[in-house]
Amino acid sequence: MAQYDCIIAGAGPAGIFAALELALNSGKKGLNPFKGLKILLIEKGKDINERSRKDIFCGWGGAGAYSDGKLNLSRDIGGSLNEYVGAEELDELIACADSIFLKYGVTSGVKGADRALAAPLEDGAARAGLKLMTFPIRHIGTDRCVLFLKQMRDALSGRIETLFGAEAAEVMHDSGKVTGIRTTDGREHRADFVILCPGRAGSNWLQGVARALSISTTVNPVDIGVRVEVPAQALRFATDVLHEAKLIYNSKRFDDPVRTFCMNPYGVVVREQSDGFSTVNGHSFSVKKSENTNFALLVSTTFTEPFHEANAYGEYIARLANLLGEGIIVQRLGDLQRGRRSTAERIKNNPVRPSLKDAAPGDLSFALPYRYLTDISEMIEALDRFAPGINSPSTLLYGAEVKFYSMRLKLTNRLETPVKNLFAAGDGAGVTRGIIQASVSGIIAAREILRRMAH
Ligand SMILES: Cc1cc2nc3c(=O)[nH]c(=O)nc-3n(C[C@H](O)[C@H](O)[C@H](O)COP(=O)(O)OP(=O)(O)OC[C@H]3O[C@@H](n4cnc5c(N)ncnc54)[C@H](O)[C@@H]3O)c2cc1C
Repeated sequence: MAQYDCIIAGAGPAGIFAALELALNSGKKGLNPFKGLKILLIEKGKDINERSRKDIFCGWGGAGAYSDGKLNLSRDIGGSLNEYVGAEELDELIACADSIFLKYGVTSGVKGADRALAAPLEDGAARAGLKLMTFPIRHIGTDRCVLFLKQMRDALSGRIETLFGAEAAEVMHDSGKVTGIRTTDGREHRADFVILCPGRAGSNWLQGVARALSISTTVNPVDIGVRVEVPAQALRFATDVLHEAKLIYNSKRFDDPVRTFCMNPYGVVVREQSDGFSTVNGHSFSVKKSENTNFALLVSTTFTEPFHEANAYGEYIARLANLLGEGIIVQRLGDLQRGRRSTAERIKNNPVRPSLKDAAPGDLSFALPYRYLTDISEMIEALDRFAPGINSPSTLLYGAEVKFYSMRLKLTNRLETPVKNLFAAGDGAGVTRGIIQASVSGIIAAREILRRMAH
C-alpha cells in the first residue's frame, strides 16, 4: 500500500490550488525541492480532456470548469474566509491566487477597481434605495476556463499522482489523527495529511464524514429567486464599468435581504441540471456576445427551529417549477404583474428575445411562494430607479433559480478539522462560494501542511 505525504480529495479550484502550492512551492518553504512531496489527488469525475458539459460539477476543474469564470477579487464576495484568516491575510492570498490565474494563461483585465468611475454608480444606487457593492473583478468567460485549467493540469503532470473516476468514501484515522482515505472500491491510500475539497457535489458525503468523525456543523442559508433578462443597453452604464453590478435591497414587506447575483453582460441564460431536477443559471463568453444581460434576483433564507433542511426546501421549489414547466419556466414581467401566464405567442412577440430557447412560457406565481414574489417585485421597482427600463413589461423572468450551500464544518483558522492533519477547503466545507476564495482556501490548507512539514 502506497504511503503519501498528502492526499487531496476533489480536483476543483480548492484541490488544484492546494496541489499547486504543495507540489510547486515546497522548495520555497524549506523542504527539499529535489526530493518532492508524494501527493495523491483523488477525483470522482474525469480528467480535463475527457470532460463534457453533461457533468458540469465533476472532474478536473470541478464546478469552475464550465463556470462563467468571474474572479471576484474581494474579501467580501464568494466566501467567509475573512472569519478564519482575517482581512489583511485574505487580501494577500486573493492577490496571490489572482497572480496564479494570470501565470496559467488568464489574460482578461480587471473592471470595477476605478473609484472615480464607481462612486457615481454607488450614489445612484443609494438614491434608488439600493446598496451597490463595487469591487475588482476579472472575467475569464465560460469559453476560456478550460484553457487555463489544462495549463494547470500540465504543470502538475509528473509532480503529483492522480486517480480519476475514484471516489473518496471514508476518512481513515487513528488516535485522533488522520491516516488516509479509503475509496469506494475498497482501496486504502495512506497519508500523513489529507485535504477534503469535494465542492457542492460532495457536500452530502462531507456531511456524512463530519457525522462519523463527530465534527460539528452549522447550517448555511438557501437562496431562492428568478433569473432576469433585459436588453444589455439597460445596464450598460453599470456593466461597462463594473462588469457585475452587485446590488442589495432590504424588502419593506418582509425585511428580507434581496440581491442581484451572477450578472452576465451580453450573456445567455442556461439550464443547470442537478440530480433529477433543473434550475436556471447564466453565463457569458469572452468573445461571442448576445444582445441581453441576465442576472439572478435571490432572497436568502436561513430556517430556524424546528426546520433545518434549507437545501431540501430549495429543491422542492425547483421541482415544483419543473413540474409546471416540464423544466424551466419563462414569464414576461408584464404578465406576472397582470396576474396571467405567458404564452408562446406573447413570448414570440416580446421585444426581449429569450436566450434560453427551451424554457416553457408559464406563470411563476404558481411556483414561487408569496414571500419571494413580493421581495422580488419590490426589488425590481428599486432596480428600475437605478436602471430605468428594468421594470418593463417585456423584461423576462426565468425560474426557479436556487443556490444551494453546504453545511459549514467546524474548522480552525487554518481550515483544520478537530481530527489532526485533516483539513477541509472550498465550497463543500461551507467556507467558500466562488472560484477565488475556493482557490485561496486550498492555498491556506497547503501552506499550513508545508509549515508543519518544514518543522
Ligand atoms: C454554472 C456555474 C457557474 C459558476 N460561475 C462562477 C463564477 O463566475 N465565479 C465564481 O467565483 N464562482 C462561480 N461558480 C462557483 C464556483 O464554480 C465554485 O465556487 C468553485 O468551483 C468551488 O470550488 P471547490 O474546489 O470548492 O469545489 P468544486 O469546484 O465543486 O470541485 C469539487 C470537486 O470534488 C469532486 N468530488 C466530490 N466528491 C468527491 C469524492 N467523494 N471523492 C473524490 N472527488 C470528489 C467533484 O467531482 C468536483 O470535481 C459557478 C458555479 C457553477 C455551477
